[in-house]
Amino acid sequence: MTIGRVRPAVAAMPSYRPGKDAKQAEAEHGITDAIKLASNENPMPPIAGVVEAIAAAAAGINRYADHRATAMRAALAAQLGVAAEAVTVAPGSSGILQQLFLTFVDAGDEVVYPWRSFEVYPVYTQLVGGTAVTVPLVDHIVDLDAVADAITPSTKLVFLANANNPTGTAVTTAQLAEFCARVPDDVIVCVDEAYREFADPALGDPVTDLLPRFPNVIVTRTFSKAAGLAGLRVGYAIAHPDLIASVDKTQAPFAVNALAQAGALAAIDHQAEVDARVAVLLAERSRVVAALTDLGWAPPTSQANFVWLDTGERTDGWFVELERRGVVTRPFTGEGIRVTISTPEENDRFLAAWADVTSG
Ligand SMILES: *Cc1c(COP(=O)(O)O)cnc(C)c1O
Repeated sequence: MTIGRVRPAVAAMPSYRPGKDAKQAEAEHGITDAIKLASNENPMPPIAGVVEAIAAAAAGINRYADHRATAMRAALAAQLGVAAEAVTVAPGSSGILQQLFLTFVDAGDEVVYPWRSFEVYPVYTQLVGGTAVTVPLVDHIVDLDAVADAITPSTKLVFLANANNPTGTAVTTAQLAEFCARVPDDVIVCVDEAYREFADPALGDPVTDLLPRFPNVIVTRTFSKAAGLAGLRVGYAIAHPDLIASVDKTQAPFAVNALAQAGALAAIDHQAEVDARVAVLLAERSRVVAALTDLGWAPPTSQANFVWLDTGERTDGWFVELERRGVVTRPFTGEGIRVTISTPEENDRFLAAWADVTSG
């Protein structure tokens, strides 16, 4: 039963279904010890200093938090070498993505993004009644020329996940600069860097390489993946202060809660510990890629904490077979399987299950 006059755009949308967790898979298959490699989370527990900061902040949650998250913006600005006015924060970087739609997209406006890519782009486009214009990947990589060709006078926003989710591939900031030079300056280009910390620094940094030249570019990042704070919901964006000011108008009141602000600030203070965890995951990524390559399943070059397996029509069957062996991955029917890089033990579980499933 539908109650009330739900907007047609919303009525037409499927309900959000998050990836299965390990417990659900255990119940479904009557197994124990299932592991979840489905949501690109950091498998390591949060840094002790972050947990302590959150616990301390909990004592003050009878008060509203600082709506502008002034301390967080200042800390991020200092870390990035930009003005505090060039930074904003949100409940996860998907919060910022949603604000970009609210800021720029009216019904009928076009939103351009490569496909396949992050599943939030089509959802938010549909939610605001925008028109999605998708551009196929070429060899699992974003085709920047084709994306530029797809821009029309109706285009308001372009989303480029770099690294791309779910294929893991990334382009350089030199390539992005060439692309941005072709984009009209009233079209906003969002460079979604949720996996920044896992990318080769030689690919360049859009904050230094793009923002000074292109005031229509906004870079989004998150504490969810590398910093391991997915459950806390904190993301941020860097752009020209005038663009940030527009985006800030669409922020929900007190959107980044007090615990999230405290936790994120502590993560910035403990950057060396975050970096050490990233180093462990990068070493594991190399090991997993080498093992998959030996098995004849070399993934496209990953600049993120996951790998893409090009399983095509076998995707759904193999996904279930992996799940039966207690390894929960993320399937994209008819296309491929995305597997999150985890601890050495969990990666070994995956590799053993993969060898078993694909040899059968
Ligand atoms: C995970 C992810 C995000 C954001 O996640 P948040 O938890 O909302 O910060 C954004 N973009 C891409 C491409 C992602 O994979």
